[in-house]
Amino acid sequence: MFRMTLVLILLLTAATANAQNASTASTVHPPVLDITSIDPSVDPCTDFFAYSCGDWLKKNPIPPDKTSWSAAAKLQDENKVLLREILEEASAGGASRDPVKQKIGDYYAACMDEKTVEAAGTKPLQGGLERISGMHSKRDIARVASEMLGQGVLFDFQSDQDFKNSSQVIAEVDQGGLGLPDRDYYLRTDAKSVELRQAYVAHVQKMLELLGDAPAVAATEAQSILQIETALAKGSLTQVERRDPKLLYHKMSRHKLEELSPSFRWKDYFDRAGQPGLRSLNVTAPEFFRAMDSALKKEDLESWKAYLRWHLAHANAPYLATAFVNTDFDFFGKTLGGAQELEPRWQRCVGYVDNDLGEALGQAYVQRAFPPEAKQHAQKMVKQIEEAMQQDIDGLPWMSAATKQEALEKLHTLANKIGYPDKWRDYSALTIARDDNVGNVLRARVFEFNRQIAKIGKPVDRGEWSMSPPTVNAYYNPQINDINFPAGILQPPFFDPRADDAPNYGDTGATIGHELTHGFDDEGRQFDAQGNLRDWWTAEDGKQFDQRASCIADQYSQYVAVDDIKVNGELTMGENVADLGGLMLAYMAWKNETRGQKLEPIDGFTPEQRFFIGYGQAWCSNTRDETKRMWATIDPHSPDKYRANGVVANTPEFQQAFQCKAGSPMVRQKRCRVW
Ligand SMILES: [Zn+2]
Repeated sequence: MFRMTLVLILLLTAATANAQNASTASTVHPPVLDITSIDPSVDPCTDFFAYSCGDWLKKNPIPPDKTSWSAAAKLQDENKVLLREILEEASAGGASRDPVKQKIGDYYAACMDEKTVEAAGTKPLQGGLERISGMHSKRDIARVASEMLGQGVLFDFQSDQDFKNSSQVIAEVDQGGLGLPDRDYYLRTDAKSVELRQAYVAHVQKMLELLGDAPAVAATEAQSILQIETALAKGSLTQVERRDPKLLYHKMSRHKLEELSPSFRWKDYFDRAGQPGLRSLNVTAPEFFRAMDSALKKEDLESWKAYLRWHLAHANAPYLATAFVNTDFDFFGKTLGGAQELEPRWQRCVGYVDNDLGEALGQAYVQRAFPPEAKQHAQKMVKQIEEAMQQDIDGLPWMSAATKQEALEKLHTLANKIGYPDKWRDYSALTIARDDNVGNVLRARVFEFNRQIAKIGKPVDRGEWSMSPPTVNAYYNPQINDINFPAGILQPPFFDPRADDAPNYGDTGATIGHELTHGFDDEGRQFDAQGNLRDWWTAEDGKQFDQRASCIADQYSQYVAVDDIKVNGELTMGENVADLGGLMLAYMAWKNETRGQKLEPIDGFTPEQRFFIGYGQAWCSNTRDETKRMWATIDPHSPDKYRANGVVANTPEFQQAFQCKAGSPMVRQKRCRVW
């Protein structure tokens, strides 16, 4: 699992899933360029986001059950309506269903069966609670942790490609064990952060009370839990540090790990996690495992029992009876995200099926929503953007011939994955029961854990996907060196083969260019064509790159995310580099494609203007302040407004298209350009 090196174009999932009440699958999609979303009263040279999206923002208030609302979120909602139809059919199918339909249909039916879920109460957690209460000493923590795989206890155990030998899959342990979204939530001392921590402790207390603890006991336990998690947070790397792959690579013997945290019985843990013979592994954050050891020594058994009980409840709350679901939502949805209401049950259930059985559900989805022509059209556009990148690299004035050769090799080796995997994941080892919602979730977690761990020591499966086909998102994986576009995002309004070329290139073309550029951003450039962490740059070219990237960091650090919180230019650097490079590549590809054609204005907009408005409208979104605050800490993407404005302000072609005067806000005096 290469979670730390995945780079996504859109961040849709906050603490709660997305989607809105929708009643029909036959939604009429808005066009790629929607004239009615433009606010003509705004000067595009002053604020291009407000110009392209102004009327969209007014017409699209955030639904009460959402933390943000965007063109992407609306599309995700539409996808969910179709997925619901698929799941209702699969659910009603009876004994004649094929195994794939049985799994997705019964998972969905169990999730929708609120009465059975309600009647079960805390029973589904009983086994876990007994294991925790049966602990005799802190030496038992490792054993119990091995029975709570995938439930956020202490750390994550997973597999990963060896950073320095990308053909090998090795074991990996990574920092984890927190209930709040990031280490910073535990360590910041400003008033808002202190207030959020107090609300968190109150939430933890409530959850423990739901497990049956008396209020006074639960209050003390919640304080101990905060203390343990704060100790883990102190040992954790920051989000910015985690963008540097060199800081995440510490391959060591198992013995060395045991020396880092001797208080944890690693033998018990690895034996039970199916890896008794493990000899070496990558430890992403050695400091974290030292901090974990200190906490294991310092805190008493009762505090650790409370910590484990809390995580058992926390990991499973969304799937349990209403009291758990609502309490979980009150803190993570409302307080942290700003949502006002819980999403309807069917939307949550569709999301859980997609999460746990994505490639089973995805098979039916692509049959209905992604015809072969759409795949061919997307493939053609990807090829064109890659050709533009070749042209761009060839012409770079600041890069030496030696580095260019390596860059081109990387570009030519890169694999494109469009729509869905060639080979579907086999879920046959996973049992799904129609009357056991939480059991399904627990088994799906163990299935996924085992699937990841089974890769250790085996050759890399380069055909694997880490997003499900209906997902409205895309990613680049530097260790595989591939770009991945799920069928879910290759839909109108983002992608419409029948639409006018200009906005199609400005929108989907820029997305493809964005993912491609990730291979060459400040993080991606550290990996070579084969996905190895290897410096293939001459010292001088590396210096040239850093100078150009720091121009972008300085630019975005000036922007305000929300209230008094600025955008973190270091955290968002890779995404900002990819946004700028992506739009430039799309522009080049579009110009190549239409060379010699006489393009006419449409609706009073020149083709160039339509290209840029197509780009700007990809970012139309409203976001709650609470969520903006959270994203400023954990999201490597800049706020959507700056993904539009920050990029065009660096682009001379934009200035020309809208004839902006020098000195306009959308014309930066000091333009940044990397690729
Ligand atoms: Zn990205």
